[in-house]
Amino acid sequence: MHHIIRESDLKHACPYCGRSTQTRKWESSFDSNKHYKVLECMCGRKVSIRMPFSGSGHDDWGLDKKVEEAVKS
Ligand SMILES: [Zn+2]
Repeated sequence: MHHIIRESDLKHACPYCGRSTQTRKWESSFDSNKHYKVLECMCGRKVSIRMPFSGSGHDDWGLDKKVEEAVKS
């Protein structure tokens, strides 16, 4: 299941229950070469934000940016 939510919103509130996420601890997660920040909310849902960089920081092929824009639109 994928919810499309603005990243800026996720940084402040859980999209499922609306609780503040700012007091929770974000953890790094890697899915293939993509870097996510994952937070498990008090409601039991996992909120993830995809980071605009990979673990290496050398992920500058332009592909990620296109995906990112497609997700946001
Ligand atoms: Zn929640």
